[in-house]
Amino acid sequence: MGSDSLSILNATKATPIPVQEEDPPNQSTALLSFNTDSSSGPPQKPTTTIVFISLLLITCIALAAAGAFAFLFFSSPSSQTPSTAHIESTARPLSKLRHPVVILISSDGFRFGYQFKTATPNIGRLIANGTEAEHGLIPVFPTLTFPNHYSIVTGLYPAYHGIINNRFADPHTGEIFTMASHEPKWWLGEPLWETVVNHGLKAATYFWPGSEVKKGSWNCPLKFCRNYNGSVPFEERVDTVLGYFDLPSSEIPVFMTLYFEDPDHQGHQVGPDDPEITDAVARIDRMIGRLIQGLEKRGVFDDVTIIMVGDHGMVGTCDKKLIFLDDLAPWIEIPGDWVQSHTPLLAIRPPPGVSPSDVVAKMNEGLKSGKVDNGKNLRVFLKEELPSRLHYVASDRIPPIIGLVEEGFKVEQKRSKRQECGGAHGYDNAFFSMRTIFIGHGPEFARGQKIPSFENVQIYNLVTSILKIQGAPNNGTQSFPQSILLSSP
Ligand SMILES: [Zn+2]
Repeated sequence: MGSDSLSILNATKATPIPVQEEDPPNQSTALLSFNTDSSSGPPQKPTTTIVFISLLLITCIALAAAGAFAFLFFSSPSSQTPSTAHIESTARPLSKLRHPVVILISSDGFRFGYQFKTATPNIGRLIANGTEAEHGLIPVFPTLTFPNHYSIVTGLYPAYHGIINNRFADPHTGEIFTMASHEPKWWLGEPLWETVVNHGLKAATYFWPGSEVKKGSWNCPLKFCRNYNGSVPFEERVDTVLGYFDLPSSEIPVFMTLYFEDPDHQGHQVGPDDPEITDAVARIDRMIGRLIQGLEKRGVFDDVTIIMVGDHGMVGTCDKKLIFLDDLAPWIEIPGDWVQSHTPLLAIRPPPGVSPSDVVAKMNEGLKSGKVDNGKNLRVFLKEELPSRLHYVASDRIPPIIGLVEEGFKVEQKRSKRQECGGAHGYDNAFFSMRTIFIGHGPEFARGQKIPSFENVQIYNLVTSILKIQGAPNNGTQSFPQSILLSSP
């Protein structure tokens, strides 16, 4: 199955997946420094004695660090855990379920910090009794919905899983990918539901970008897979997932997704600091409460692993921070049909015969001239020259010219009288406003553990590790799960 994913990637001319290396991670990804897997081999390949011993040492260091985290937490006065001196170090055994079950929940556009906007007793309960990325989860670039959701379930950066934007053109056929495109040719890599089914286990998806795509062993079965319909009430989604626990135990899917469009929906309309967001966050919290209560009623809450994430954050765009491509005309004309996306990800594919480096040079000359409004807040790159931490080059679907805009700025083609005030995402994933949440709750997540921020490509290995199945090769770090999960008894 691993080679399937690689061969799919090769077939579409993407370069092989580099397993995440020591590439200096984003500011607060300190945990990634536990990574020793700088080889590009698949997981669990045979290792030499020396590598084994150093892995053992690193594991000890990781465990010590985890212990230190736990100690810090247990000694904190705000801790809600029992006041025993015992530091939890091993996973808690399942009492009712026969196999570990992971429910992966996404609340779209749940910017890190939204959880403090209002009382969120249910999300708070997961945090207090589980593991939280203390300063949020780092999305992949571009910080857009489809690229990020698919990175979460494949462990791949967009260049490798193929969904490089919410909308893009195939450079060879000119065909357009949209969020309604379900042909398997667009969707590379191996999503978790496919990995699970490959192991003879059941998966269920209640919406997730890519989950309707019939690919490999995944045929989106009627019983366990829904075609996207945004009008289905959130309550119905939660209740359907709860209903899976009423099945005979051999029929219960071991991996389930649950997706909520909010608070992204409101964030775009009113920006991140509006009371509408507060209401949307409170509603998401009620859905988490509904899920917890349903699991408790069935006696499985402590057995089930809940992983709650968002796909990206949100930033206000209310200050007329606009940059107009037409203003660059004295240096170079950029026709609208060269532009695959304007903002916040500016992506330009000039026609054959026009040199991309010439376009980049002229655009940057104009932007730096001081004569273009807000010009200094847009920097244009050949994709090969983008910072390597963005991992946004290794696919011919990515247009040759990419612009990075400063936080909260927008790029438009031409001036208009339109008054704009709202919210946006899609910016550089180094901006704190683009961060979202990560909470893990279940038998293998220490209670009250706080971990440093990490990139969402780590989640694939985390889920396969909890489910105790072999995952496909991906961009996550093989040692990541051991660094944050409780050890098996
Ligand atoms: Zn989104």
